[in-house]
Amino acid sequence: MNADHSLEAARARDAADPANAQRGQFHFPRRPDGGEVVYLCGNSLGLQPRRASADVEAFMDEWRRLGVLGYHDPQADWLNLHQRLLPTAAALAGARPAEAVVMHSLTINLHLLMASFYRPTRERHVILIEQGAFPSDRYAVASQIAWHGFDPATALVQVGPRAGEHLLRHEDLVAEISRQGARLALVLLPGVQYLTGQRLDIAALAGAAHGVGALAGFDLAHAIGNLPLALHDWNADFAAWCSYKYLNGGPGATAGAFVHERHFGSGRPRLAGWWGNDLDTRFEMAEPFRPCHGAAGWQVSNHPLLGMVPLQASFAQFAAVGLPALRARSLALTGWLERLLDTRLAGRIEILSPRDPEARGAQLSVRLSGTRGSGRALFDRLLAEGLTCDWREPDVIRLAPAPMYNSYEDCWRAVALIDAALSA
Ligand SMILES: *Cc1c(COP(=O)(O)O)cnc(C)c1O
Repeated sequence: MNADHSLEAARARDAADPANAQRGQFHFPRRPDGGEVVYLCGNSLGLQPRRASADVEAFMDEWRRLGVLGYHDPQADWLNLHQRLLPTAAALAGARPAEAVVMHSLTINLHLLMASFYRPTRERHVILIEQGAFPSDRYAVASQIAWHGFDPATALVQVGPRAGEHLLRHEDLVAEISRQGARLALVLLPGVQYLTGQRLDIAALAGAAHGVGALAGFDLAHAIGNLPLALHDWNADFAAWCSYKYLNGGPGATAGAFVHERHFGSGRPRLAGWWGNDLDTRFEMAEPFRPCHGAAGWQVSNHPLLGMVPLQASFAQFAAVGLPALRARSLALTGWLERLLDTRLAGRIEILSPRDPEARGAQLSVRLSGTRGSGRALFDRLLAEGLTCDWREPDVIRLAPAPMYNSYEDCWRAVALIDAALSA
């Protein structure tokens, strides 16, 4: 495209992009002086869809009017709220409908799934993760290993970037999977690495794990709603995600999970609760437990519905825009941000995320060079000037233009604010 990197060029791009209309459907946080902040933090907490508060109020009204009858009232139909969300959740995950479920929260779902899919034996008990794994995932995996009486010091194997590099290499992951071979029980990797924004090849990694007789699970916290996914076709065994990052479901919103259909009816043990019991007999409170068909059988408790109601507005937007269009917009937006960073901040920043657009999602992780010692002060300054992004010690900021609501102008303003802060 052209090399015009001006604010006018950003505005012209926004004006020419019909998808920019979605932006008006969100609340943008404001600075103390009333101006909108530049919000590039949708990888951490997505913004609030404008419709969400009306939906929450409608739910509160149902509770007021109906009490417990809200579960079975044909209009309110609380019992099936998660079912109404299911088609979009399944589409986002690339799952058959029975393979997806909207339930609980991310780390809890990982534990529930590992209870079924991590069945270690003396011979085969290693779990492979990546060295930079999100701490919650590492805690979950290490505690699963210890729970089964094995030692995380030997049973938890981690693959990191090579010395001097920031990104994982698929060949290193695959080589370690082969090396572990018959010792390897489970591979648990992210769809998108949260620090660097690197996308991993789920199909290739699942294939490598299956090749040595292991299973492959994926944490899609930073992938869902960011990239098109095809978990069924990619042959992932299981996956879990949260709904408050790119999915804009609100803080701690009800999460989701995927179980590949080849595991249905496999008789694997699970940690059960009444909500996983088939709806036909759930309220008979009878023995024995009869799991719902598919991933829904992993539900344990009745859903905190207030955590689920805001997803209706968000999922309607995802269904309306569609992930292919969203991804096309994301490639253009993030590419524009990358060019602005490269031209305007040349020599003062380093982009740690993959340069190949196919190897990343929306996020760019940027090292602010020459800021050692004052990195935090610089970040605080950016925050005060109205750029909401994410800070990682010692000197990395993560900028995520969310294709659902961010604009080319947002990207331009972010770079202008970083430029000013670095020059101050
Ligand atoms: C955001 C995130 C989490 C958070 O887990 P919760 O159970 O929702 O608190 C866990 N893992 C990864 C990789 C994340 O990005």
